[in-house]
Amino acid sequence: MTRVEFIKMCGILGVSLPFQTVLTSCNKDDVNNIKFSGKVIIIGAGAGGLSAGYLLQQQGIDFEILEATSIYGGRMKINTDFADFPIPLGAEWLETNTNIFQEIVNDSTTQVNVETIPDDPDRKFVNSSWFNFFEEYIVPSISNKIVYNSIVQSIDYSGIQIVITTQKGQYIADKVIVSVPTKILQDGDISFIPTLPQDKQDAINGTTIWEGFKAFIEFSQNFYNNEFEFEITPSSDGKKIYYNAAFGQNTSKNILGLFAVGKPAIDYISLSDNQLKDFILNELDGIYSNQATPNYVKHISQNWNDEPFIKAGYMTDLADWRTVKKLRETVADKIYFAGGAYTDGEDWVSVHTAAQSAKNTIEEIGN
Ligand SMILES: Cc1cc2nc3c(=O)[nH]c(=O)nc-3n(C[C@H](O)[C@H](O)[C@H](O)COP(=O)(O)OP(=O)(O)OC[C@H]3O[C@@H](n4cnc5c(N)ncnc54)[C@H](O)[C@@H]3O)c2cc1C
Repeated sequence: MTRVEFIKMCGILGVSLPFQTVLTSCNKDDVNNIKFSGKVIIIGAGAGGLSAGYLLQQQGIDFEILEATSIYGGRMKINTDFADFPIPLGAEWLETNTNIFQEIVNDSTTQVNVETIPDDPDRKFVNSSWFNFFEEYIVPSISNKIVYNSIVQSIDYSGIQIVITTQKGQYIADKVIVSVPTKILQDGDISFIPTLPQDKQDAINGTTIWEGFKAFIEFSQNFYNNEFEFEITPSSDGKKIYYNAAFGQNTSKNILGLFAVGKPAIDYISLSDNQLKDFILNELDGIYSNQATPNYVKHISQNWNDEPFIKAGYMTDLADWRTVKKLRETVADKIYFAGGAYTDGEDWVSVHTAAQSAKNTIEEIGN
């Protein structure tokens, strides 16, 4: 069964997604009294790595996060210059209910103030973003534990302790949480000593990872529907959506968003910036009776395939849940996996699945 089939089945049976069920059924302080007392190294400071670090910090466990770039957030990246509200270059929508914020902070005494509005079928942040939520509630308590510009090259788990080698030096740990995109593992950018078990390698290499692209275009006038107007191209090879990116924001700007993953993204990712502008305006002129070009102000784009430590959009919605489950499986009680793609197979490739995956991983380490 795939994610899409699973979600459909839940709809037919009238049940909520299991992830949401898990979330609402568990106690807010459910990651608690962890017994483990060694050192943990987390690789990657995206939603998965940050959530894992945050939980370890709460439990008083020694850890560091090694991040290849000079910033945290991974695919939650935002742009703050383009408009008067944060532009989400990766994760944009809240694909579950708002209880998730309280669940991620894992502390019922923390008041979480994040405004969202329904934007069918998901929710949208109002003048905020997933990045802003992490910046405010997750990162402050762990910011001194993130070691930037540390590109992990190998993980040697052949001995009692694990040796993690970066381009700058080595780290020793009792447990490692791998929280890098699956494409990084597919490309062998991190070598494992000994190599990962064959079934794990098969899951990693047998997974289709979609290309990922987003663009935002400002117009001088709103010639499109003020609510939200979608041009959707869904297919088993990916999807593409034009939408009103300023919908629900406190702004007077007119900004359209373009989201494309999988095959539809290929049309955009090889173009130069000027070619991209012409291509998009041509497409929009076709949809909106030649109103795009005369109203064009500026644009920005984000090609996720070009990011050296992300290299793609995300794992296909149509992956087999057994493969996803295998991706999360722990190796030798030493190498753990947490992130958007490393879930228990009921849902994947969202920020909330990355956070939930981290929670499951920390519970597993503690048991
Ligand atoms: C175009 C697009 C739109 C999306 N829209 C949504 C949405 O609307 N809602 C939603 O919930 N989700 C969305 N997602 C998915 C969501 O962004 C991801 O599932 C989630 O952010 C993944 O978090 P992660 O921690 O698993 O990985 P990432 O965020 O990719 O973080 C991995 C980190 O590992 C680091 N890293 C990589 N290699 C190394 C190395 N060798 N050594 C050290 N560090 C390394 C990277 O630099 C990165 O910081 C979208 C994704 C894309 C691409």
